Amino acid sequence: MKFGTKTIHAGFAEDKTAGAIMPPIYQTSTCIQKSPGNHKGYEYSRTGNPTRTVLEKNVASLENGKHGFCFGSGLAAIDAIIKLLSPGDEVISTNDLYGGSYRIFTKIFEKYGIIFHFVDMQNSNCVEKLINKNTKMIWAETPTNPMLNIVDVEELSKISKKNRLLLVVDNTFATPYLQTPIDLGADIVMHSLTKYMAGHSDLIMGVVICNDNTIAEKIAFIQNSCGAVPGPMDCFLALRGIKTLHIRMERHSENGEVIARYLKNHHKVGQVYWPGFKNHKNHHIAKKQMNAFGGMVSFTLKSNKLNDAINFVSNTHYFKLAESLGGVESLCGHPASMTHLAIPKAEREKTGVVDSLIRLSVGIEDVEDLINDLETAFSI
Ligand SMILES: *Cc1c(COP(=O)(O)O)cnc(C)c1O
Repeated sequence: MKFGTKTIHAGFAEDKTAGAIMPPIYQTSTCIQKSPGNHKGYEYSRTGNPTRTVLEKNVASLENGKHGFCFGSGLAAIDAIIKLLSPGDEVISTNDLYGGSYRIFTKIFEKYGIIFHFVDMQNSNCVEKLINKNTKMIWAETPTNPMLNIVDVEELSKISKKNRLLLVVDNTFATPYLQTPIDLGADIVMHSLTKYMAGHSDLIMGVVICNDNTIAEKIAFIQNSCGAVPGPMDCFLALRGIKTLHIRMERHSENGEVIARYLKNHHKVGQVYWPGFKNHKNHHIAKKQMNAFGGMVSFTLKSNKLNDAINFVSNTHYFKLAESLGGVESLCGHPASMTHLAIPKAEREKTGVVDSLIRLSVGIEDVEDLINDLETAFSI
């Protein structure tokens, strides 16, 4: 099955009761047993629910993985993966990690004795230097938020295999339409399904995907023991959203390119960060591991004034000012005053998050309307 066919068909064969074309929403907490242990594969919906199973199989198939496990949010998925570790274990991650991942690592799991290092992952030497006998996991993200840096997953997987570590890739920004980390050597892939995967800004969900049966058993055990599972209605909505993933990602990428090129030529714009540009510092890696470059574009204003950026994001009409990304509608954000507010100015500026940095999640509207919208906001 090719990708576009998988988005629509993978995970669901047939509905035996009515022949429904869509997987039924099994809104039930428990399933009847004929005699103790004699059931149809489902006992209690924390452990397993038929609607959730369809979604888990669907997403695993898109990522070319064998096993999928859905969680109540992307962060609940991250929580489950870190619970594979024990006190004293060390994780090497990136210094421009998604803020919520940084928070759960440092504010929750450090308390339980797990040690996290944050390095420049674009340079694999920085990763290798930190590896010691306690290192158990490399946690990567590519493209990163909001600077859209690209990390070489194949390179990391070589380091990880050599040192018997687990390589985890947060594939939220790219989706399996743009890259499949398992094919590049990752052991575990996770997503915030909230974003591009479900794609309609109408739910919060996460997923963990892997190939290895032992890891899968452990994640299933954690999923059931800790219980951060999504309900069947949300699983249905996610499945419905995923059916158009390939079409949406194609249009996100097309619109993203048009907007990135428009910004590059605008006299009020300083830098534009988009991995499709030949002079993006990791363009060669992006070209090697991605099928297209997606709809995330960040840029700075030439003036680099905080107020100019705040004015800009307050004056767009179609680009709604909101947290999140990856929905059909365009969004804009101002990291310095929103997602990165808690990070001291000197710290955030080291990674490029200057006062005027603006992040766009380019939607799938008609791109002419989006350009007009930006043009108006620049002129106010
Ligand atoms: C949003 C996001 C998460 C967290 O997912 P939630 O569904 O919001 O819990 C993790 N990683 C990345 C890259 C994200 O964008």
